Amino acid sequence: MKAAVVSNERTVSVVDKQLRPLKHGEALVQVEYCGVCHTDLHVKNGDFGDVTGVVLGHEGVGKVIEVAEGVTSLKVGDRVAIAWLYESCGHCEYCNSGRETLCRDVKNSGYTVDGAMAEQVIVAADYAVKVPDGLDPAAATSISCAGVTTYKAVKVSQIQPGGWIGVFGIGGLGNLAVQYAKNVFGAKVVAFDINDNKLAFAKEVGADVVVNTLNEDPKERALEITDGKGLDAVVITAVAKQPFNQAVDVVKAGARVVAVGLPVDKMDLDIPRLVLDGIQVVGSLVGTRQDLKEAFQFAAEGKVVPKVTLRRIEEINDIMDEMEQGKFTGRMVIDFTK
Ligand SMILES: [Zn+2]
Ligand SMILES: [Zn+2]
Repeated sequence: MKAAVVSNERTVSVVDKQLRPLKHGEALVQVEYCGVCHTDLHVKNGDFGDVTGVVLGHEGVGKVIEVAEGVTSLKVGDRVAIAWLYESCGHCEYCNSGRETLCRDVKNSGYTVDGAMAEQVIVAADYAVKVPDGLDPAAATSISCAGVTTYKAVKVSQIQPGGWIGVFGIGGLGNLAVQYAKNVFGAKVVAFDINDNKLAFAKEVGADVVVNTLNEDPKERALEITDGKGLDAVVITAVAKQPFNQAVDVVKAGARVVAVGLPVDKMDLDIPRLVLDGIQVVGSLVGTRQDLKEAFQFAAEGKVVPKVTLRRIEEINDIMDEMEQGKFTGRMVIDFTK
């Protein structure tokens, strides 16, 4: 079967690969679609360590074609997601307290184990979340990563209905953060970016106000919008350092700043600002299986609509280049159905 594998030259090779036989508790999935994520770029570039030879992809959706013994949660024909959380240990303090994404023995699809950017993939059946009927499978790929990540981040921000939330960075994640914040949590949304096309896209998907931080001071604008108070919460999906620092400036006292984007960098924090204004800066990493189930359900109800463009697996290196240059809005999705 065809698979997109990390090669040792910081590129991706499309190779013919043979899968091993299934083990107890595993299922074989015929992949239909797999989204290309900024994290794949990091993995390919070796930013998290050298993983030459691994099959990329953690935004996969496909149908179960075989189940091994011991599988009770899935049956042949079920449509499932292959997300970043491939499997966790199931018995540590994190797994036992609803924080399985923090498990120290976690396995991640397309990074520590072979992922879904291939015609077929092996999954740990209990960790493969079902995709609800009525949700387009190509759009579902975006929910399995960008969607669940931003849904969880907005949850973590503790935004209340009617409150003002800022979203920094309107890429593949940011546009979904806008939609979840607006259509699921009932918040008012300010979108911040440096790219007018992305801001126009943010407006299209429901942002109340957009701010281009190249020409406008984000703090001034935030105060203007909120009668001098500041925003109630912020989610940062940007992949540069500056928006992280700006985010701390736009919120009001007691607010939460939720970091989701992953620039390999440090953030400056003004200690008096944190202490005197009680600002909370928290990281949020993807989401649990339960978060994904909820994120899928809202998408199936039409509250969140990912923008996806179908591409061929042979275009994977071009897609990576385009992503690095910020050339497109929404998500590029590899189509394995043809
Ligand atoms: Zn992803
Ligand atoms: Zn664990």
